[in-house]
Amino acid sequence: MELLNFIDGQFVKALGGKWLEKHEPATGKVYATVCRSDAADVDAAVKAAQRAFPSWSETSTDERFRWLMRIADVIEARLDAFAAAESQDQGKTVTTARTVDIPRSIENFRFYAQYITQMEGMALESKGAVHYTLRKPIGVVALISPWNLPLYLATWKIAPAIAFGNTCVIKPSELTPRTITMLAEVLKEVKLPAGVVNIVHGLGPECGQPLVEHPEVPAISFTGGTITGKKLAATAAPLLKKVSLELGGKNANIIFGDVEPAKMQECIQTTLRSSFANQGEICLCGSRILIQRSIWDIFVPAFVAAVKALHIGDPRDPKSFMGALISEAHTRKVESYIKLAQEEGGVVLAGGSRPAGLPDRCRDGYFVAPTVISNVAPKARVNQEEIFGPVVTLIPFETEEEAVAIANGTQYGLAASVWTGSVSRANRVSAALDVGYVWINCWLLRDLRMPFGGVKASGIGREGGKFAMDFYTEVKSVCSKL
Ligand code: NAD
Repeated sequence: MELLNFIDGQFVKALGGKWLEKHEPATGKVYATVCRSDAADVDAAVKAAQRAFPSWSETSTDERFRWLMRIADVIEARLDAFAAAESQDQGKTVTTARTVDIPRSIENFRFYAQYITQMEGMALESKGAVHYTLRKPIGVVALISPWNLPLYLATWKIAPAIAFGNTCVIKPSELTPRTITMLAEVLKEVKLPAGVVNIVHGLGPECGQPLVEHPEVPAISFTGGTITGKKLAATAAPLLKKVSLELGGKNANIIFGDVEPAKMQECIQTTLRSSFANQGEICLCGSRILIQRSIWDIFVPAFVAAVKALHIGDPRDPKSFMGALISEAHTRKVESYIKLAQEEGGVVLAGGSRPAGLPDRCRDGYFVAPTVISNVAPKARVNQEEIFGPVVTLIPFETEEEAVAIANGTQYGLAASVWTGSVSRANRVSAALDVGYVWINCWLLRDLRMPFGGVKASGIGREGGKFAMDFYTEVKSVCSKL
């Protein structure tokens, strides 16, 4: 299978004729090749987006509403095909792709389609004049996405970018090129005007970097790692580009001793998901579980037993809760953190190695069993650095103040979960946490109108609803003397 660039409404090979190999994580085998693009391909894509911008930005909100709804409908009609492809490409279970990734990709288009029909501006009268705002799209926006939620995060950028009247060039992760290419087929089929959405595949330094540097790209929305984000910010700052950075995390899941006994099972089950959903490869996964000492002996054995009972297997198997990690290199990285944890005094309570009983097809796949580690100090490297895999640490605490201090004691600040039976504690702790998102007695319940983003090393800017509108448009004030 050859996965091509999509530029000016056409599937095209990289101009330099180069290719990258794409492995299937569950088998470790190459199953596709993907364009290895460079600055020349990026320039062609930006030029196509520039040509498309004047007419696309003049379309009515009603026209754009209908385009986005049509795209959503076609993806929905192919839900199974998209889910199977996402699972094969990324290693996630087909169940996750079918129930999380693809439905959310559809929702991204529907949400922004509807959002633009409800947009309001501002008008006021003062000093003998009327003042009002105009909102304009920015132009050609660059969208750079990671590999963990491929179509989900790509469409979280494409949908608002084009809904607000911009055209775009997207550089997906080189590790997950498949479903974005299937999206291009959908765009071609529904006859979205050529150049509105362009896709260039390739490596970060060769393809992402020239996109960030391109003089005709005034804004960049990036989701990925903090190190890449810093590099991108350093490139974009002197060029005065608008930048949104959604970066890494080291999220705390804080479990207080006053969780209602009747809610303890729900707490354990949700914590299983927040730890290991998508193999722990979600920026919002809680990788540090902070447990109040008063319930340590209740929570820990029950949690560890539940982890050991999880089924890890072929991502195609509907029984599998976890599938394969994204790549061999990432698997090595995750394993190195398990080793480091042990060197730092950690005790592995579950997992720690390759899962047993994998089917023959998955013999060479990239698998790590869900791993639970205790006895590692909050300031140890495994509790400070993002692992981004199926590894969680258990950290005891005595007081609320101590829990907040441990939770806030990393460079990151993306999200946290707080489990407690006390409303006042829940609100107090939520206010004290240095993060962009707090879930109280739940995890990953999202409403797309809410602001989404991180603080500290987890990013700059917010996406979602009106916050995306602020990023993807420029607002102008007009004053007319009465
Ligand atoms: P990454 O930073 O390695 O890559 C992200 C994207 O940036 C890829 O498309 C990559 O090719 C591109 N890239 C790399 N170098 C570049 C450069 N110099 N210029 C332009 N683009 C470049 O991240 P990843 O490994 O793909 O994704 C995992 C990371 O993403 C984790 O740190 C995770 O926490 C983070 N993430 C954050 C969020 C969030 O919303 N905050 C969501 C998902 C993932």
